[in-house]
Amino acid sequence: MSESFSFVKPLIVAGPCSVETREQTLETCRRLAETGRVAMIRGGVWKPRTYPTGFQGVGEVGLEWLAEAKRKTGLPFGVEVANARHVEAALAAGADMVWIGARTTGNPFSVQEVAEALRGSRVTVFVKNAPMTDIGLWAGAVERLTGAGIAEDRIMLIHRGFTQFNGGGFRNPPMWHLALEMRRRFPGMGMLCDPSHIAGRRSRLAEVAQKAADLSYDGLFVESHCDPDSALSDAAQQVTPDGLVELLDSVIWRDENPEHSEFEREIERLRLEIDQIDAQMFELLARRMGVSEEIGRIKRENGVTILQRKRWREVVENVVGRAAELNLSPEFIRAVLDAVHMESIAHQNDVMNR
Ligand code: PEP
Ligand code: MN
Repeated sequence: MSESFSFVKPLIVAGPCSVETREQTLETCRRLAETGRVAMIRGGVWKPRTYPTGFQGVGEVGLEWLAEAKRKTGLPFGVEVANARHVEAALAAGADMVWIGARTTGNPFSVQEVAEALRGSRVTVFVKNAPMTDIGLWAGAVERLTGAGIAEDRIMLIHRGFTQFNGGGFRNPPMWHLALEMRRRFPGMGMLCDPSHIAGRRSRLAEVAQKAADLSYDGLFVESHCDPDSALSDAAQQVTPDGLVELLDSVIWRDENPEHSEFEREIERLRLEIDQIDAQMFELLARRMGVSEEIGRIKRENGVTILQRKRWREVVENVVGRAAELNLSPEFIRAVLDAVHMESIAHQNDVMNR
């Protein structure tokens, strides 16, 4: 790949979550190439799995299969790297791109090691956001790469969603406003959306991809497998190459509105943040009702009455006591808590009358 990474928008990077066997790699890449819609293959050979019992990847042999697929299809490829040894092996195998995965972006030691190992190379580097709901480590990773002499136009951002205890139906809720904030900080840098890790399931990919297109992302980074249901990792979110075509056909990429002023963009980002907060607020309320129901069950089993006035007075006083600090009026806090309490009692009643 050349010194600067040029591409036609939307840039579509696709491939299996994990490279599993030579046959799976060649078959998936052949079918992806036949779609004519994919510019680059992605494939994980070292997998950063949350639990040690998960499939950890095939290791270096997978690079040979990806290189063979490249010879056969002509498609460039990239792999996830998390340390210097990975970088050296990927470069030796002729990788055109390496990406820094979410868990690695969250670790400055690893990012620094990867950045140093990439010094002087000509590959393109994609950087995923770290899982925490903050862009500091994401931005820091970019700075470590540029600090190691990697030109800005060879770095691309990948937005893969953030870890949240309530995901609003997403595996990693997008928190779009954070990604837009990252774009604001690095205006010249391309940004891809990884709908696979945001959605976590095939049925929500199109919705996420369309939102990314509406927000003028530069393309998609999607997991595709020749037989997704038998995939050794992330089976629920991978699509077949035909499924990928269907997904891409469903997304409408509009030209960025040149009339969109800086202040309109700012308002859009803030609106996305409000949508995110509202979604989380109701997820929290639903979770709170679930806990109330649990209390209701315990009360029923032990013959205790629903309403315990003293306890409720304490709850209200506690929050009202923080009114000034929260910059909320005591009246508002009381009104909200009253509504929450009524709903909560209704949930407990349901459980007790069951
Ligand atoms: C992946 O792309 O397969 C992957 C491991 O993603 P993430 O780093 O976003 O979890
Ligand atoms: Mn994956």
